[in-house]
Amino acid sequence: MSLRDILISQIHAQGPMRLDDYMSTCLLHPQHGYYTTRTPFGAAGDFITAPEISQMFGELIGLALAQAWLDQGAPARFTLAELGPGRGTLMADALRAGSRVAGFLEAAQITLLEASPALRAVQAQTLTGQTPRWIDSISDLPEQPTYLIANEFFDALPIRQFVRDGARWRERQVGVEGDALVFGLGPAQPQPALAHRLEDTKDGDLIEDCAAAAPILTTLCARIQAHGGAALVFDYGDWRTLGDTLQAVQNHAPVDPLATPGHADLTAHVDFEALLDAVAPCTPSRITPQGVFLERLGITARAQALAKTLGGPTLKAHITAHRRLTHPQEMGNLFKTFGIVPGGAPMLPGLEI
Ligand code: SAH
Repeated sequence: MSLRDILISQIHAQGPMRLDDYMSTCLLHPQHGYYTTRTPFGAAGDFITAPEISQMFGELIGLALAQAWLDQGAPARFTLAELGPGRGTLMADALRAGSRVAGFLEAAQITLLEASPALRAVQAQTLTGQTPRWIDSISDLPEQPTYLIANEFFDALPIRQFVRDGARWRERQVGVEGDALVFGLGPAQPQPALAHRLEDTKDGDLIEDCAAAAPILTTLCARIQAHGGAALVFDYGDWRTLGDTLQAVQNHAPVDPLATPGHADLTAHVDFEALLDAVAPCTPSRITPQGVFLERLGITARAQALAKTLGGPTLKAHITAHRRLTHPQEMGNLFKTFGIVPGGAPMLPGLEI
């Protein structure tokens, strides 16, 4: 039975499905989920992420976290964590660069939050020689200083969508028509959690809510505030959601999110306002364009040093990769980053202003 057939029979039995349930089933169903069954990153996959574009991305992040570790007195034992590490490339590059900082690697306990068994296996291979520990939930982070990275993790968390109807909201749901999955709207209902959005929306506007995001940050920030540490989050999104940003990608091209469940990546823009609201009592940096951040960390100097070792097509690919990560018309502006440190601690390098 395909995932499409499973979803259709479930909807026939139980009625229309919430979008967050649809998303999490498509992405993480144990037998048919998108992340559970494949390694989707890279030229041969469905999409490409910053660490897969160039080693410079993970290297600079590793050094930024190592600097924060030094700034906070270089604790002798700490968690070096990643949320949704994909192929493990970012962590491998961060560790290689971090090994240049005396004591950093020896003190680091690598901890990976990853839901997909298939990707855990890939991460184990990429990180051969290391001893990462995998966790199922953010609350499994040990009670110790925690330095963490999350690249394109929050956009993979399931969202709900609501369309305003007077002072109430109609939830967007997945139903069945004939043998096709279709979007529909549930009945108008009050949504007390969305009361603040009655101020800045009008009838017919669609807003999104990612309930899973805030508790992850709240738990993480409790660790960072209590024991020290820092976090760096990269994603694409907006300040306060407005409009439908659900997106399905297959073979590097957009597809209908309902057409091929389990075979396309599903993401939504992150709501940076909601993320920053969840970090108290830690201090967040400003939301900073990825390109600006990487330039401040010295990506151009690193690119020039690497270029000296390259020639021909690899040099050309390297120049393209640098541009792709930083140029405002490529990922440089679309992707944003922010840092998190304990209240009163120095901000991560590149995010001080
Ligand atoms: N950070 C990587 C991969 C981004 S794709 C990169 O930049 O290349 C999203 C990652 O998050 C995948 O590893 C996916 O399996 C994981 N993921 C998605 N939802 C998750 C969840 N609810 N819990 C844990 N991991 C999740």
